Amino acid sequence: MKQSDETQGDALTGLRLGSTIAARQLKYSLFLAVGLGLLIVAIRGYQDYEWIEGIYHQGNQRLISSTVPVATQVLERHDLELAEVMARGMLNNRSIARVMLTNAEDGIFYELERPAGEIPTSRWAEKMFGGLQTISIPVRDPGVKPATTMGELVIDLNPQVYVSAYMTRLSWSFLATMVLAVMMAIAFAAMSYFVFSRPLVKLSNYLIKSDPTDANRPLEMPPYHRHDDEVQLLGSVTVGLFGMIRGQIGQLRRARDELQDANVHLEERVEQRTRELNDAMQRLEVLASTDPLTGLPNRRAFLGRFEEAISLWRRRETPVSIILLDIDRFKAFNDTYGHQAGDAVLVELGKVMRATLRAIDMPARLGGEEFAVLLPGEELDGAMKLAERLRVAFEQTSVDFGGSKLSFTSSFGVAGLPSSEGVKAFDKDVIHQFEALKSRANMDISDALYSIADAALYAAKEGGRNRCRLADMNTLGEHTNVFPFDA
Ligand code: GH3
Ligand code: MG
Ligand code: MG
Repeated sequence: MKQSDETQGDALTGLRLGSTIAARQLKYSLFLAVGLGLLIVAIRGYQDYEWIEGIYHQGNQRLISSTVPVATQVLERHDLELAEVMARGMLNNRSIARVMLTNAEDGIFYELERPAGEIPTSRWAEKMFGGLQTISIPVRDPGVKPATTMGELVIDLNPQVYVSAYMTRLSWSFLATMVLAVMMAIAFAAMSYFVFSRPLVKLSNYLIKSDPTDANRPLEMPPYHRHDDEVQLLGSVTVGLFGMIRGQIGQLRRARDELQDANVHLEERVEQRTRELNDAMQRLEVLASTDPLTGLPNRRAFLGRFEEAISLWRRRETPVSIILLDIDRFKAFNDTYGHQAGDAVLVELGKVMRATLRAIDMPARLGGEEFAVLLPGEELDGAMKLAERLRVAFEQTSVDFGGSKLSFTSSFGVAGLPSSEGVKAFDKDVIHQFEALKSRANMDISDALYSIADAALYAAKEGGRNRCRLADMNTLGEHTNVFPFDA
């Protein structure tokens, strides 16, 4: 994988101008030119053959027709001298190998033959012109009617001289055509290389080196060539294309950067919103669980903690107590001093509660002028002592309002769930009730406890106000709708 990448990288660093492309062009040009040359030679050779064969036959015909009258005279006169002159004249023609005259009386009257080996017959002569040929022409007596035959003129014909001439002609034709073909091939290869290949290779090298994705490098103009408008056009089109690619890549990069920015901003904004939301939720949580006038936890917050404390009691018998309190004759107070004075008392009462209680205790405003204290881990007698301490603290508090010092009192009801140790102070029936309570739901238990504490508060009011009352644990069943128990 790595290797092939490298080889490709090398190949892309640049194409070499030159030899291989030119050599290939020359090779195919030569193939083509030599092929065409051979075809031309073959056609011309065939035409030459027909032409020379015609000349051979016509020449023979002419010789024969001019010789027959002489042969007639020779045979008429039995003239051996004339026969010799005739035969020697004929042998001057190099295509004639033998001349012979015959008549009825002598058989062979005269014969002259070219010396053997002077013009040997080649294989080509056999193939193309049929080799040595003997023809016999009858010689007639012109004085006798009807014509009678005096004898025969016999001639041996040898086509070798024509074959040689033909071969020479063919050789020269072949040589000339081949030389021309090679020259044309070289010229064509050179032209195609300089006009097409070289500009294309240069253009390719230019394309390889230009990087349309690198915006820092300027796009150079393509190399210029003469006589090659097509390559020029290709170069210009490519540069245009590179420009478009560069533009598109630039747009893509900008879009990518914007997207990344947007993502970063989005993440920041989401984080900020989440923080704001969490803060708001915390503020809301505080608002939802706080009484705005006194700043004390409200009924909702009180009940939540109360349920938690009951769970703890059920699981671990950790004791928990509650104190309910209600300001005495507050309606009359309001009527006398005004509603705002009443509010000042409520605020002051909250401060006194916070100042008197321990950190673990939870004071709360349940509504109107009713308050409560949750005492986690506190037994009933401890809770009673704390209620008494609160009662005294209220009694001794004077509220500054409009120049006057106002005082108030409150009545208290106390109830609770004892620990395993604290429960021993109760008689059997009450212990049984506590045991039975543990099998109830949290809500049932808190309702029951709240009810008997409220009953104790009512009893404190009945008993003359400004006092604390412990809830009667025997009356758990009487004061709540969840009792009596099934058990
Ligand atoms: P008791 O001793 O029997 O409790 O007598 P009471 O007058 O306090 O009894 P009641 O419960 O009938 O009256 C409660 C009064 O508390 C009624 C109302 O005027 C007053 N009150 C309730 N909430 C507020 C408050 O937020 N501000 C003020 N100033 N007065 C309130
Ligand atoms: Mg009341
Ligand atoms: Mg009251």
